[in-house]
Parts: sequence; C-alpha cells; structure tokens
Amino acid sequence: MLQRHTPPDPSDIRAVHAALLKKRDELAATLAHIDRSDQARSRDRDWIDITPIKAPERPDVEGVDLRSHTERELRQVQHAIERQDAGLYGLCEVCGGPIDHGRLAAVPEMTHCSRCAAEWPS
Ligand SMILES: [Zn+2]
Repeated sequence: MLQRHTPPDPSDIRAVHAALLKKRDELAATLAHIDRSDQARSRDRDWIDITPIKAPERPDVEGVDLRSHTERELRQVQHAIERQDAGLYGLCEVCGGPIDHGRLAAVPEMTHCSRCAAEWPS
C-alpha cells in the first residue's frame, strides 16, 4: 500500500514539486509491482488449475481495482506536475481561479477549485 505523507504547505512551491515527483515515483513503482505480480500470477495459473486448493493471493477484481485506481492517481499527479511546470499550479483548470489553500494542503495534485469540482467531478 502507498504510505500517506504529510502534504507540503501549498505556498512552498518547491516542497510541493518535490512531493509531487516523489508521489509520482511511488505510484509508478506500485504499478510496476502490480504488473509483476500479475505476470507471476499468470505464470502460476497452470499450477492453480491442477491444484485448485491453492487459491490466488488475492481476488483478481481487487488487483484490477487497485491498478486502475493507481493509474488514475498517477495521471492526476503527472497532470499536476505539468501544470506546475507551466506555472499554473494552484489555479483551477476549469475557471482559472485560485484553488483554496485547504484543498491543496489536503491533496497537492488538486487541479479544480471546490466550485468546479462540484460541477465537474473528476
Ligand atoms: Zn474552478
């Protein structure tokens, strides 16, 4: 599982950038880990077929959910990094208004203000 880090102060742009890069690396590592265990599991599948008592470590559906969740989070973080590189960090990508401090403090990769997030759920 991913560890939850204490998010940086949104006004400390360098700390935010470092935190986003770190989170991106962690998510990429998690995805690579999921892929590796999926491959290992398909290699093991022959064995599971002939020895049905040995259950997979976790149900397939859970792996799929974790994978799509991680991919989605990785896309959001990557997107936030790109917006930060473009000098748009902390601005809502829909209305261009500032995203409130509290939202950014809780989720550094947030790219919608609270008003637009309500209208455009991501
Ligand atoms: Zn907005």
